[in-house]
Amino acid sequence: MKAVTWQGRRKVSVDEVPDPRIEEPTDAIIAVTSSGVCGSDLHLYEVLGPYMSAGDVLGHEPIGVVVDVGSEVRSLAVGDRVVVPFQIACGHCVMCDTGLPTQCETTQVREYGSGAALFGYSKLYGQVPGAQAQYLRVPHADFTHIPIPAGPDDSRFLYLSDVLPTAWQAVEYAGVPDGGSVVVLGLGPIGDMACRIAAHRGYRVIGVDRVPERLRRVADRGIEVVDLEQIGASIGDVIRDRTDGRAPTA
Ligand SMILES: [Zn+2]
Ligand SMILES: [Zn+2]
Repeated sequence: MKAVTWQGRRKVSVDEVPDPRIEEPTDAIIAVTSSGVCGSDLHLYEVLGPYMSAGDVLGHEPIGVVVDVGSEVRSLAVGDRVVVPFQIACGHCVMCDTGLPTQCETTQVREYGSGAALFGYSKLYGQVPGAQAQYLRVPHADFTHIPIPAGPDDSRFLYLSDVLPTAWQAVEYAGVPDGGSVVVLGLGPIGDMACRIAAHRGYRVIGVDRVPERLRRVADRGIEVVDLEQIGASIGDVIRDRTDGRAPTA
């Protein structure tokens, strides 16, 4: 199959690599139909390079169709359409039971003291082949998938893998009180989605950035924005000004 591979600092390429196959009875293989590129992938591009090996397959935001399942997989069948989340989690350990699958005790990489294994994300997270590829092996497949219906375009569901839950969690952890307001610093894909979620939940939302295209995209949805370049202020000034001097909640 073809896959995007890491080849060195600031160097990736599309290469021919072996097709994945079932290795454990709890695995599934999916044919990837779309795959996101993440801001986190940039860390691999440079900063986390020491933890990468030439040939590592990148990517952790796929959607696809199941083409093979291991003998112990119960909830998936060939032909099912799924989004695969970025983390690999067993679904039956203490951390998974607590609702913290990114700390799954079964897959966490103790050698580096990191959390659950992630697809395509360096030795720190298990060096699991990633999803910017034609096929993906999904370990612990019964739990590590989100079922989606056939029909609507991939773009309708792709963000379920990382962008939507990551942004939702950011808003949730901000602990905004009912009727409260929230400042979102940085309007890249996650900040943009966090603005949408916070607005959806009825909060007053103030998006802050200095990139005109990002500000325009968020403002076009009716969200209040602050352009740091226009006001010549620091982010700290903005928070104090917009929260009437009260400490922000996050
Ligand atoms: Zn991501
Ligand atoms: Zn677990």
